[in-house]
Amino acid sequence: MGSLNDFLVREQTNPMGYDLEYIALFQSKILEWFQENRRDFPWRRVDASNYELIISEVLLQRTKAEYVANFYPTFMAKYPDWETLGAATEASLIAILSAIGLQNQKGKQLYALAQEMKERKGILPTEKNVVMEMPLMGMYTANAFELLILKTPSPLLDVNMSRLLGRIFDKRGKVSLRHDRVLQELSGLVVDHDRSKEINWAILDYAALICKAHKPKCHDCIFREDCIYFLREIGEM
Ligand code: SF4
Repeated sequence: MGSLNDFLVREQTNPMGYDLEYIALFQSKILEWFQENRRDFPWRRVDASNYELIISEVLLQRTKAEYVANFYPTFMAKYPDWETLGAATEASLIAILSAIGLQNQKGKQLYALAQEMKERKGILPTEKNVVMEMPLMGMYTANAFELLILKTPSPLLDVNMSRLLGRIFDKRGKVSLRHDRVLQELSGLVVDHDRSKEINWAILDYAALICKAHKPKCHDCIFREDCIYFLREIGEM
C-alpha cells in the first residue's frame, strides 16, 4: 500500500485486483471523514418515509443534490405521499419538475410511477427485480431501494461513485455503468459493511466535495497516498 509499485504488485498477486485489506481501510477512513464533513439533506433524516426515500432518489438521478434539496420542500408540501402523487395530473408533474430543469419525459415517467403505486395501494414490492421493472426505476434506484428500504448493503453507483472508485482503484472501464461489471463488483465490495448506508453517502459526499470531476482537491485528499489517479497523473512516481 502507498505507491504505484505496491499497487502493481497487488494486481499481479490478485488478478481481480481487489485488496480486501485496503477496502477495509478505505471504509474506515471514509466513515471517519464523513463524521466531520457529511452533507445534510432532508431525505437523510432518520424519520424519512419510504416514499421520501424513493422519490428523492428518483429526483437525484442526473440532478445535483443541492438543486434537489432546494426544490424538495416545495415538492413534498404539494405531494407528501403516494396518495397525493397518485392524484396528480401528468401535466402538473411535468410542470413541477421543470422547476429543476427536468425534462417532460421525467414528468411522464413520474406520472406512470405514481399510477402504478396507486394500483399497488401505495405498497412497494419487496423484490428488487420487480422494482427494477417499474417506471423510472433503473439499476440505480433499485439499488437505492435495496439499501434504504430493505436495509441490505447495495451500492448507489452513479457517475460520482464511479469517478471516486475508478480513480482510487483504477477500475473504471469504458463501458456504461450499467454494463461495467468490474465497477459494479468493486462498488458492491466497498459498501459491503454494517454501515453500508453511511459508506454510500460518504462516497457521494467525498466525490462532490473533494474528488470533483474537474480539479479534484488531491492535496487535501485522505486517499492521496493510495490513489492510482494521483500517483499516475499528479504525484511522484
Ligand atoms: S487523490 Fe485526487 S483523484 Fe485521488 S481520490 Fe483523492 S481527490 Fe480523487
